[in-house]
Amino acid sequence: MILHVKRNCTAAQRRKLDRKLALIGATVYESPGSNGRILAVIGNPKELRAAGFDQEPAVSRSIPIDTPYKLANREFRPKNAVVHVGDLAFGGTEVPVIAGPCSVENRTDLLALARAVKKGGATLLRGGAFKPRTSPYSFQGLGEEGLSILAEARQETGLMIVTEVMDTRDVDLVCRYADMLQVGARNIQNFNLLKEVGKAGKPVLLKRGMMTTLKEFLMSAEYILSNGNFDVVLCERGIRSFDTATRNLLDLTIVPLIHHWSHLPVVVDPAHGTGDTRWVPIMARAGIAAGADGLMVEVHQDPENAYSDGDQSLLPDDFASLMKGLRPVAKAIGRKV
Ligand code: PEP
Ligand code: MN
Repeated sequence: MILHVKRNCTAAQRRKLDRKLALIGATVYESPGSNGRILAVIGNPKELRAAGFDQEPAVSRSIPIDTPYKLANREFRPKNAVVHVGDLAFGGTEVPVIAGPCSVENRTDLLALARAVKKGGATLLRGGAFKPRTSPYSFQGLGEEGLSILAEARQETGLMIVTEVMDTRDVDLVCRYADMLQVGARNIQNFNLLKEVGKAGKPVLLKRGMMTTLKEFLMSAEYILSNGNFDVVLCERGIRSFDTATRNLLDLTIVPLIHHWSHLPVVVDPAHGTGDTRWVPIMARAGIAAGADGLMVEVHQDPENAYSDGDQSLLPDDFASLMKGLRPVAKAIGRKV
């Protein structure tokens, strides 16, 4: 249930409300509204209904929330959330671009790529050190060595680092190096991992799974929010479809849907979303036009020999051209890349 607390309620009225909330054992989260505080009250629905919050003098409005996600619901936070990563912000006018290889392969190439994507206009560097691979025989990532290469690239370029954490046992380790934790498509319902990243105190990029519904997506975000971390950015990276013409189907419809139902920012990943560099620039522009709060693309110096996802990785020069193509689209909708 959502309660709007009157801006001008007295301290005694607020105490009375808080006592009632405590009495029914509700968990309460607060956020600022335009006309006073907004409370998300989580508890037994029957008890919440019976509590008669409408009669409380401190309350101007009570709204039963019928969606299972409460903290991710726009009713709780009517304004767009702005998620900061260093000086960057997802959810503001500027649209940050995350670029880099699928996997961190070695120090020399990663540092060169970091310089190249920075020159092209990226503000965050991506690269997997822990890779979720379909085959156990495929390259699994460099682990901590990869993380320390990423940290060196940040040191040199100032780019913020986004990298995937796959296992609860690695959350502390990845936090020591990364500026933003990525939870990948395959772990969208790894609830123990979601709880741990909820407690980790770092912004999280949560990627949609191959068959995740909007409701499931927001419920996974809710796991992170309800564990104390409101710095969650969602990422549309394509879903499975019947059509094998592309690796995945980039579902841009979910961008306005997320913006309607939730306050959380959303990033579009046209690399995994299409699986083919030919379609990445146009779908990146389409993502911006649909209202994406960020973009993620894969870039590699030698895509043909990339350890993973070469088919969808742009050459550094093509990344720079993609960035040029985004600017007029962003400008047309009052944003900036
Ligand atoms: C990735 O970002 O390289 C990745 C593995 O993405 P996803 O989890 O969306 O497949
Ligand atoms: Mn990849």
